[in-house]
Amino acid sequence: MAGTRLVMYDDVTVSLLPSDGDAYACYVDGRYANCDQVRAKFPGKQILTIAVFASDDADCLDVEQGDATNAQAPGWVKRQQARGVARPVVYTSAGNATALAGAMTAAGLSRSDYKLWSAHYTGVAHVCGTGGCTYPRADASQWTSSSHGRSLDESLCEPGFFGGAPAPAPTTGGQEMALVVLPDQPVVMLPLGAEITRLRFGGHITEKIKLDFLGVSDASQTVDVSYAVADAGQAGVAINPKCVNVRVVRNVDGTMAWPPPDAPAGQPMSAFPPLSIWTVAG
Ligand SMILES: [Zn+2]
Repeated sequence: MAGTRLVMYDDVTVSLLPSDGDAYACYVDGRYANCDQVRAKFPGKQILTIAVFASDDADCLDVEQGDATNAQAPGWVKRQQARGVARPVVYTSAGNATALAGAMTAAGLSRSDYKLWSAHYTGVAHVCGTGGCTYPRADASQWTSSSHGRSLDESLCEPGFFGGAPAPAPTTGGQEMALVVLPDQPVVMLPLGAEITRLRFGGHITEKIKLDFLGVSDASQTVDVSYAVADAGQAGVAINPKCVNVRVVRNVDGTMAWPPPDAPAGQPMSAFPPLSIWTVAG
């Protein structure tokens, strides 16, 4: 996976959190609920919210003794997906990862439906399943509970842990609300109504675009569009309900073959080929 791995800290005591992290995890519920304090202390940093009760919504569910159970995790993941979280995170010990994955599979979920944040205290920064660790492949791993020589959890996260990984769209369907044909510009702002849950794309030729979900701290995504994916059955990209504006960046990797090599000489061409976006509700 390209990009830089991120350092994430978490602790029930906010004053123990150092300021050099890329990201911080916090609890939305339970006796250690501290998200308001963590957000206030680290504005602008990536924040991963954790629920210890499966009845609560968050970015991550804490599956361990005394918190949520393996059996509760699939229902929680499906509920987060339904509210627009493409790949919710489940936290568990590396030793429980196989059992947890089994519960997910039994409930019809695949590994690409969720991210795994494993705890494996080796004292060596790693993401499980890499660097010689033989536990199941994780998206992030908490590798010590005594970082900086004190009671402090530290994790290493893959670059895509905060929203960068492509969302495998779980469902098609929904009601198409509007077809937007983007103007001939490299960067286009696309306002969204609150009812919009999904975007579908159709391009004239193959092109890589980047979507920045404005107002949502963790979200940016690249999408490969082509003529072939313009079919109505295309699942598209899930939209977090908090997002009211999407910034669309055209030809983000510079490889788009436009204008076409066989374009008639002397004929003015647009800078970009047409790109269509369907907004979908429900
Ligand atoms: Zn490991």
